[in-house]
Amino acid sequence: RKWVYTFGGGAAEGSRAEIEQLGGKGANLAEMAALGLPVPPGLTIVSDACGLFYKSGKTLADELKTQVLHGISGIEAATGRAFGDTSQPLLLSVRSGSRTSMPGMMDTVLNLGLNDHTVEALAEHSGDARFAWDSYRRFIQMYGDVVMGLDHEVFEEILEDEKARLGHELDTDLSASEWQHVVKLYKEVLEQELGEPFPQDPHVQLWGAIGAVFSSWMNPRAQTYRLLHSIPEGWGTSVTVQTMVFGNLGSTSATGVAFTRNPSTGARELYGEFLVNAQGEDVVAGIRTPQSITEAARIDSGSDKPSLEKLMPEAFAEFQAICDRLESHYRDMQDLEFTIERGKLWMLQARSGKRTTKAAMKIAVDMVAEGLISEEEAVMRIEPSSLDQLLHPTIDPRVTRHVIGSGLPASPGAATGAIVFTAEEAVEAESEGRKVILVRVETSPEDIHGMHAAQGILTTRGGMTSHAAVVARGMGIPCVSGAGTMRVDLRNEKLIGMGVTLGKGDIVTIDGSSGQVLKGEVPMLQPELSGDFAKLMQWADSTRRMTVRTNADTPADARAARSFGAEGIGLCRTEHMFFEGERIHVMREMILAEDEAGRRAALDKLLPMQRSDFTELFTIMHGLPVTIRMLDPPLHEFLPKSDDEIEEVANAMGLEPGFMRRRIDALHEFNPMLGHRGCRLAISYPEIAEMQARAIFEAAVAAARETGAPVVPEIMVPLVGLRSELDYVKAVIDRVAKEVMGEAELEISYLVGTMIELPRAAIRAHIIAEAAEFFSFGTNDLTQTTFGMSRDDAARFIPTYQKKGIIIQDPFVSLDFDGVGELIRIAAERGRKTRPDMKLGICGEHGGDPTSIHFCEDVGLDYVSCSPFRVPIARLAAAQAAI
Ligand code: ADP
Ligand code: MG
Ligand code: MG
Repeated sequence: RKWVYTFGGGAAEGSRAEIEQLGGKGANLAEMAALGLPVPPGLTIVSDACGLFYKSGKTLADELKTQVLHGISGIEAATGRAFGDTSQPLLLSVRSGSRTSMPGMMDTVLNLGLNDHTVEALAEHSGDARFAWDSYRRFIQMYGDVVMGLDHEVFEEILEDEKARLGHELDTDLSASEWQHVVKLYKEVLEQELGEPFPQDPHVQLWGAIGAVFSSWMNPRAQTYRLLHSIPEGWGTSVTVQTMVFGNLGSTSATGVAFTRNPSTGARELYGEFLVNAQGEDVVAGIRTPQSITEAARIDSGSDKPSLEKLMPEAFAEFQAICDRLESHYRDMQDLEFTIERGKLWMLQARSGKRTTKAAMKIAVDMVAEGLISEEEAVMRIEPSSLDQLLHPTIDPRVTRHVIGSGLPASPGAATGAIVFTAEEAVEAESEGRKVILVRVETSPEDIHGMHAAQGILTTRGGMTSHAAVVARGMGIPCVSGAGTMRVDLRNEKLIGMGVTLGKGDIVTIDGSSGQVLKGEVPMLQPELSGDFAKLMQWADSTRRMTVRTNADTPADARAARSFGAEGIGLCRTEHMFFEGERIHVMREMILAEDEAGRRAALDKLLPMQRSDFTELFTIMHGLPVTIRMLDPPLHEFLPKSDDEIEEVANAMGLEPGFMRRRIDALHEFNPMLGHRGCRLAISYPEIAEMQARAIFEAAVAAARETGAPVVPEIMVPLVGLRSELDYVKAVIDRVAKEVMGEAELEISYLVGTMIELPRAAIRAHIIAEAAEFFSFGTNDLTQTTFGMSRDDAARFIPTYQKKGIIIQDPFVSLDFDGVGELIRIAAERGRKTRPDMKLGICGEHGGDPTSIHFCEDVGLDYVSCSPFRVPIARLAAAQAAI
């Protein structure tokens, strides 16, 4: 088969369409060559050869070698040089290139083909011996490191020593004979350390370098990168072998990198850096300070070193024209690598440039205006989850950070405030208008009101799905969780990290996007939701089919969500209201009551509280649909846990601590998540459901009268597995509805539906749909019950599963399409068979996950519901799914 594709001289065998086999680099080199741009001729070995390499015990097949050698004869013909020739030697670079860019993860070898003889020829025919010996030492250094495995620091030390000995500051200060001496030292150390000499045969060098690039596919760096970016190992890397061009050929030569637009602001201006008399790695390595490409940027930076525009105006003009050409060819901002050899420009790489979200928005909107792309393409250009960056304040990138610890970037955005160690202090501070960061070892449901009151949350324990992380993300509050390098000393009210001790009231800043914890106050950039953002979202909204609702438990959530464009509430978890302020006491009274009469007495007190919450929620949503879930969690979640707490609560309630402990023990469950919760509570204690239904309908009446926009409450019964469960609870709701409507003399339309969160419910959806007027997929529990995996304990083994390749993605983060997804499909199909116009939606964390949203579009759900701060992400993802 064809393993090798050549390019150069205005033609190419491959093109961008073959990116899977040629890799990003190889494909774009081919594309540029075919466009007639100045690309040094070369060849690309397809990425399938990488798999073959590993299958044959890390050796190169003869057939492959033959094709490479054939390609090289073509290059020789095109360049008029010969590989290994001692008068006109052809030198090569050997480069990696995978399907998606993995910057800096794999290896490159430059100046290949040099040896003790060809170096002389190179010196001779270039007329520059310094250049030839500089190239040779570079080659030995790279080859010794990448192919032979001698740590690059060994070489760097030798070079540093030599420079010190000779009194040189810069690499460019060394003369030909000084480089020649360095080469000698390099060869000696190689032989001494590895017991084998540096290979002189160019063909040995070539096969060694190709093998090393294939091998670098499996280096730990690349493996980690693939894991983080869900890149399959099976893709492999291609290898490009290309004629060297030299940026280190004196003062008329240079090498650089550039973006066709500014990657941080998106402004339409050439943006980049270059170095005179240098080769590839030098620009990134920071050995010398690079110079600006354009004169405007030079003036901006205040540098006195000339720009490329001034220094090499002809090469600059050609480069600028190529930038425009490539932008209109690729219809996207490009990240380019180039080299100028004695005034002649060569293009070495093109790829779509990485950019900040802000830049991505500006570029997309500008390109629509420039007629380069359509509105739909613009919508497709923005990575939905990257919007997170825009919706929160961020730390001004120009400031220096005094980092005192770091943890997981659990909830994006940055926040500054005075340290408090308890939820109560946070609430108190809020009432006094002070800004605080709540610092805890970990958080629990009792801290909710304090979390709400804080600007940000810092915990020293817990992962990305810990209570603090999940709740903070839901509230849109920045959070750093599991900052294990920091210590909370609760007794003395101290936070300690990296030798810095902060006390209560000291100012701290957390960066929930990076996980860093910083001392003191730090300047922030505020989110900007108008302009490009607004325009793009408008395009997205006119494209999508699904509606986007929000999960909102409180009026504050609902308001935030509406400002982000939510079109209703898909999940209101009533129980979260029970943790606020005094309510928890009444709730506990209800739970601890020994009989129905006692429970009803407490419920009577809860009724007006719930009613006023719902009234406010309905008023804010102003006629948009609101789904309210009946009480769901096991009751023990509302009760105190530690002895101290039990005593305190008992005293406050005028109860015996002993009695309280007995009641708590009686409520103990072995497996509460599969225990007495969901509709099971409403069946055991119908008076709870009654009270909630009454609160909902009375609130609907009140809101309808107040706003004149009638709400249609959608009442959702959780954890239904049997139709008879739903029948029972629905009967209670319908009865109360009738009562309230009679009392108010007002007709309220409402729906009763259920969450599909048990496999049995999914399978029996056609039967359940006879009673349910809507389904909402509760994918957190559905994932939990389908896998038989406790979400709260999954953090202990999911990372291991991922490391061992047993699963790629955490199913609690990204929906498991094959299993959980299949159940959703089944339920949607069967439910609609019974009730064709039935509304279907998804709530739960997946409702804000872009890939899961694509799946929802496929299945034909009517809406997705997610936490307020993910609403814009969901709007964009839903639009992309519909395109
Ligand atoms: P990476 O994928 O890490 O960017 P590259 O294959 O692009 O690795 O190589 C790194 C650098 O080496 C390039 O930026 C370029 O400056 C230099 N380089 C690669 N090939 C050549 C070549 N044929 N001639 C001159 N320089 C080259
Ligand atoms: Mg590169
Ligand atoms: Mg649930």
